[in-house]
Order: sequence, then C-alpha cells, then structure tokens
Amino acid sequence: MLLLVTLAACGTSDAIDRVDDARLNAADRDSANWLTYGRTYSEQRFSPLRQINDSTVRELGLLWSHELPTTRGVEATPIVVDGVIYTTSAWSVVYAFDAITGRQLWTYDPKVDRSRARTICCDVVNRGLALYRGKLFLATLDGRLVAIAARTGLPVWDVTTVDRSKPYAITGAPRIAKGRVLIGNAGAEFGVRGYVSAFDAETGKLAWRVFSVPGDPKQGFESKALEAAAKTWHGEYWKTGGGGTTWDPIVYDPDLDLVYFGTGNGTAWYRDLRSPGGGDNLFLASILAVRGQTGEYVWHYQVTPGDNWDYDATQPLMLADLTISGTPRKVVMQASKNGFFYVLDRTTGQFISATPYVSGISWATHVDSVSGRPVESPTAYAGLKPVLVSPDVEGAHNWQPMAFDASKGVVYLGVRNGTQRVHAPNAEWVSDLSDRNMGDDRRYEGELNAKAAGATLNRGELIAWNPVERRSVWRVTLPVLQSGGVLATAGNLVFQGRADGHFIAYRAADGASLWDFDAATGIMAPPVTYLARGKQYVTLMVGWGGTMGLANPQNYGPLKPGFGRILTFAIGGAAKLTPTPYGHSAPPVAAIKLDTTAAAIREGDMLYRTYCRFCHGGNAIAGPLPDLRYATADVHRQFESIVIGGSRKTLGMPSFGDKLNSSQLRAIQAYVLSRAAAANAAGRR
Ligand code: CA
Repeated sequence: MLLLVTLAACGTSDAIDRVDDARLNAADRDSANWLTYGRTYSEQRFSPLRQINDSTVRELGLLWSHELPTTRGVEATPIVVDGVIYTTSAWSVVYAFDAITGRQLWTYDPKVDRSRARTICCDVVNRGLALYRGKLFLATLDGRLVAIAARTGLPVWDVTTVDRSKPYAITGAPRIAKGRVLIGNAGAEFGVRGYVSAFDAETGKLAWRVFSVPGDPKQGFESKALEAAAKTWHGEYWKTGGGGTTWDPIVYDPDLDLVYFGTGNGTAWYRDLRSPGGGDNLFLASILAVRGQTGEYVWHYQVTPGDNWDYDATQPLMLADLTISGTPRKVVMQASKNGFFYVLDRTTGQFISATPYVSGISWATHVDSVSGRPVESPTAYAGLKPVLVSPDVEGAHNWQPMAFDASKGVVYLGVRNGTQRVHAPNAEWVSDLSDRNMGDDRRYEGELNAKAAGATLNRGELIAWNPVERRSVWRVTLPVLQSGGVLATAGNLVFQGRADGHFIAYRAADGASLWDFDAATGIMAPPVTYLARGKQYVTLMVGWGGTMGLANPQNYGPLKPGFGRILTFAIGGAAKLTPTPYGHSAPPVAAIKLDTTAAAIREGDMLYRTYCRFCHGGNAIAGPLPDLRYATADVHRQFESIVIGGSRKTLGMPSFGDKLNSSQLRAIQAYVLSRAAAANAAGRR
C-alpha cells in the first residue's frame, strides 16, 4: 500500500489513475476537465467556466486543428482530463492530443472488420469514450469493448460483447457505474435482440446483461420483467431478434444506484410484420431503469407503445432536479424522436409530462396527462398500407446531445421541425440492408407523395426549452434542417454546430447569435470546454456523415462533406483553417459509354435504391462517400470486382456477390452513368 501511495505521488501522469468514483461523482465541481460523455453523471453538458462569455466570445478564434484521415461522419464527445484530449473518429479509431498545443500523443486503431459495413445502419461513426482509473473504454463498430491505457494508447483487454454471426454494431459511448463499464448495441434495423451489458472495468469480465425484449419463450425468460413483456407480443417475434437496441443513451445515478437506458425500434419497424395481432411490444421504444449492481429491473416507461414509425427512444437521457408544482422531483428527461419532450420521475418511473416541442406532429394527437399514454391519430396507421407521418424517421430530435442550465431551468437542443415522410413497409421483413423495410417514398407515387412534397414547415431550429413550464423560452430558426449537439456554459453561452459547417455561439438568455466560425464541413458532434494552465478552451469534432449525410444528402443542403477534424478554440486564437479540398468542382462526365436501354436504366435505378443509396446517396448524389457519377473509366472497368468480388472490402465497400448478378450490375452502372450524363447536360454538380 505504501508503495502505491508513493508511486501515485510521483508525477502528474498518475493523475489519470485518480479518475475514480469519487472524482466522477464530483465532476460538476471539476470545471477544468470534461470527465465523462455528458460531463457529469447527469449528462447536463453545462460547464461552469466563464472566461469565454457573452462579451469575450467575439475574440474567440481557432487555436489549432488536426485533420483526420476520414470523410465519414464524426460524432464524438471528447474526454478532457489534465491537459489531454481523448477522442474517437470513424471506424472506432481513438486519438489522444495535447489539449493546449494540439500535438497528437498517440492513436489506437482497433482494426474493425470494415467488410461488415453492409449492416451498419447509419454510418461508421463512434460517439466517444469512457474513462476510469487510468483506462479509456472504447466500444467498437464490430461489437467489442476495449480497455486502453490512457497514458500509452495500448490495449489492456478486449472483449466481444455481441454474437458476431448477427448484424450487431456499436456506435455509442460506454458509461461508468461504480467499477463497471456499461454498453449497449445497435442493429434493430437488420434483426438483432437488444441488450445492455455491464463489464468489470479492471478485468473485462461480464457482470450482468439486461435484454430489452423477450426471447424465445421455449428457452425460458431471463427475468420476470421479460416474462411479463412477452405478453405484449404476438407471433414468433423472437425469430428476428425483436430489436429494441440501446444504441446510444445510458445514464447512471450513483445516489439511487440506478442505470437508465433508452431502447430503439423493433425488428421490423412495422408492427403488423413484427407482432401480427398488435400489442405494445415491451420494451421497445422505452426508457428503463435497472439496478447498477445487478441489472435488476426497477421500472419502465414506454415512450411509443407498439411503435410503427422508427420512433426509437434512444435520444439522450438527462437527469435533473426540478421543482414541479411546488414539489422537488428527481427527473429524467428526453426530447424524443416522436416529437414530445418527456419528464419522468427517475426514482419511481412515474410519468410527469410529455409536451410537443416541434410543430406538425401527426402520429399522435397528444399524450394522456394521467396515463402517460400517447393517443394515436387515425391517420398514423393503416396496417401495411403507406401512411404519411410526422416527425419523419430521423425524428424531431435524434442522438445529438442537449444541454441544461439549471440556474435558468432551460434545456437547449437542436430540433427538426415539421418533417414528414411517407411510411410504407415491404410485404415482408427481410434481414438485409437491401430491404431495410424503410418507407421508400418513391415507390408510392400519388396523393401521399404529393402531400409529403408539399410540406412547408420543414425547418431546423435551436430551442431553449423550459421543462417545468413545458414551453420554449426562445427558438432560433436555422438555415439548415439538421444541427448538432449542444454545449451550455456559465458564460451565458450556448454553442452549437450545423450541417452547413457553421459553428455558432448564441447568447443563452435570448438566443442572439454572437459568434460564427465556418468549419468547412458539416457538424453533428457536440462541443466541450475545459481549462488548461488556467485558460479556457472549446473543442469540437467536425465531419459530416451519419444516416442523414449518407442516404439523403440532398435534403440537407447546402451540403458540406469533407475530411473530419478536431478544432480547438481560445480567446485570441488566430490559426487559419486550410481544409484539404473535398468534392468536385465541375459537373460529372459519364466516363464510359455503355450499350444500354431505358428499361435497364430503370432497373438500375431500383437496384441502386435498394443496394447503394444508403451509402452513396439518393439519386446517386453522394455526400461523404464516393459520388458514383464521378467514377472514372478505371473504376467502371473494375465495377464487377469491386461490387461483386469485394475487392475494396478492407476500405469499407462491402461485397454484394450474394445479391447481384452481372446483368444487374450493368443496370446499376447504366443508371449511374445516366445520372452523370443528366447532371452534365444540366451543368450541375
Ligand atoms: Ca431506429
């Protein structure tokens, strides 16, 4: 013991070992550092720092930046401790930087299997790390949890948390609960059974695992809660896995020893396919509380019973202490994808309120104030026939973190206002990227589509929301639909980036825009702030991608894909950003001539939509990934070896050899070339 004490006193490099339960508990007072994903266990993302404030922010400038070797989505929240930044990029690659100079200290690549990209729903992103007693914890895209020595970047242990024969993936950040590392997973779109696991931080040994949906009843249920949940399902739901994955939010309340997590949509999205005969399908689209020590079920609240619209309840969960009707309440809050802002009692799970925070919600008329159950609109559901619903599948708010200023009683978040989309299932559910059972608006011409196209409310906003008074204090209309995660500070500032690459500081009191930096690529990640040698900094990861950037980039213009970067700002910072050029400056030219027919191009269009669109973009207009209209003659000559032969598997281009034959491949080629020719004729990029 004496030896340990002596060693710990030897140098500053040991400070990282002292990020333990006590220090995590006191994270709010530790204003210099950003110790956990949401800064504190409550995940309020509010910093007490005020050197950068509503008067000094005009002198804020870029201090240093570092370009990352990726054009994919970057979504991480950096951890900052004692002058070092730890963060992640696409493909679960980890970096450590000196927080003052930006010098790269080390990088760690877990070498995820890039050929599995076909069953990654929403880009190869990673949202960040957890830190505990000198180790960083990384959850990888291919389902591993890796402990990394923070000082050296060397792996300490590496465990597989999923059945790798199934289409699981992980994009979320692990969380810490008293010596345990908590992690969920993703994959409900492709057919998996969701769960949250707790691993021993020292050894990587599994401590407990909680499933979010029941399994095959013949195998017996893992808990009484799942046995009861099974009564809300019909048919052979377990055969697809059921879904309900916790792909992002996990929070821990150390005082109550409760772990809270949100669960996603079911497999399949459409309840008639998933559970013929209906039912609430617990615990899909729910918020659950389990004991930190054991994983034992404590309570649940189902946000969207019998979800049919991909309304995951996987948006950030935030803990706060609010006074509601004169009574102090410990609450958990979520601005859910389905357009309602939820406040629940986090001790008991009791429903407190659900209030629309965007306009145009059409799937439900309201949430009953007593039962907490939403009242579905008659237009929201028509069995396996298409319906037009709002919010759309990307939600009124998604994973992008929100922030809470307790002194003002206000939550800040970016919202997607008035979106709507035709929601139309395939006839049956198929476990493959090619048949994601997503509403494909273009398969349904006619009235619904015309209505969807006529949507006029489609706009992004940053809002300041009072969860007690259940109203917005202010709303700022953004020039783009999609905006990123939020940071609030005691300097009366709210920081947020946007799809068009602008990083803005707003005055927290009224939403006035005070400062604007053009990061040259779209922003989704939330900024963090910290103190190093007495000076305040703001750091942000940038890089456009994710489901929005990949599948529907043209919906998010003015589009700014580019190389990912980490940017650090300080008062007086005067560095210039010199981004590596990305994208195309002129219209495409069809690189080869192909003998084809209009019928083949039409077939190619359908095949492209089925197999290519989710990564290479709708209408063959790409965001972060190669725009196939610009494919060179050389690429066209290798088309078959790339798409069917899998020759670029290690780069993340999966093989479609089991799906496409040569003639179908030529049809896709013909379609892509036709799109290039059309853009060229119109003089458009
Ligand atoms: Ca989903």
